[in-house]
Amino acid sequence: MKFNPNEETLMDRGPEAHTPELLESYHSSTYAWQPGMTDDDGNPMKLRISKSSLNGFGWCPYQYKANYIYNLSQEETEDMVRGTNVHAIVEHFWDAVKDVKDEAIELLEAGKERQSRRLLKSVIPKPPMPYLLGEDEVIDTWFEWQWNRFKVTEGYNWAAVGNEVSAHASIDVDVDLELEQMIVPVHLRGFIDTIFPDGDGGFVLMELKTGKWTPKKAKSMREEMQFYRLMLEEGNYMRYLPVTHWAWEFPRGWANGGTKAEWELEDTSTRKTSYAPRTVMNNIKKLVKAHIMDSFEPAPKTWRGPDGETLTSCQMCSFMEICPAWATDEHEEEEV
Ligand code: SF4
Repeated sequence: MKFNPNEETLMDRGPEAHTPELLESYHSSTYAWQPGMTDDDGNPMKLRISKSSLNGFGWCPYQYKANYIYNLSQEETEDMVRGTNVHAIVEHFWDAVKDVKDEAIELLEAGKERQSRRLLKSVIPKPPMPYLLGEDEVIDTWFEWQWNRFKVTEGYNWAAVGNEVSAHASIDVDVDLELEQMIVPVHLRGFIDTIFPDGDGGFVLMELKTGKWTPKKAKSMREEMQFYRLMLEEGNYMRYLPVTHWAWEFPRGWANGGTKAEWELEDTSTRKTSYAPRTVMNNIKKLVKAHIMDSFEPAPKTWRGPDGETLTSCQMCSFMEICPAWATDEHEEEEV
């Protein structure tokens, strides 16, 4: 069961580029880019990369090819539905809470904590039918974190200033091939879940995840957040949005063998985060190179499940039937 109380979905919103140059760059980009590709008028096309497409390539290059180049869809899983429902509520919350925030601050200042909390929570709508995938518990945990912040900040610099923020950037990527170097224009595209003020003139980028949390995930989260920061830097947003921190929240972090529900905040100027720009640019270069070489080899991954069982990325993939890693050798079958 899907429930979206927002007036528009992200898909309805269109490109929303903030300059005509970025809009043009977006329209001249495609995920299915090949070297030398042009549009119907003979203008050169560029490769489009989003955080999801870059992650998809890192997960399995062949799955990326099926998704983004052949334009095939993965079957929708329960995890996807739950994630979509929770994101829809969080997006709605930050829009709707503006109408009650000042009153909630007054109630808190008057010592009426329970009423203040109830008022803030009242902006979360109930779906017409009960959720089926545990969304209520995830939303409750997430709300509790926002309420705790509200009490600590007393409501000031508490609310999101950006909510599902559309961002674009155009960059030139320098790729080393065996016999030459190539400069490849790339369009970066994404939506930033939420942006908060840091209270000191800077901003915090926040990512919401509804999967499991383990401390090992911090590395991949920094890389995801760096992708956003790169978009903001290269899309000339940093003048208005200097990013000083990034953060992630996993309100269902205990699921599937995860450690616990967790959220973390990091200063972007520390040594701990300094590797992220180079890693992300290297990942972008690998993806561009794969397009140039048309090289998207299947890369199945295995790991231990919560009960010690072996799980593989292929078990969650809709493309096994077309995947070369699973192609059967007909002669072998006959012999058997
Ligand atoms: S079946 Fe496995 S190797 Fe093949 S595309 Fe899917 S995840 Fe990759």
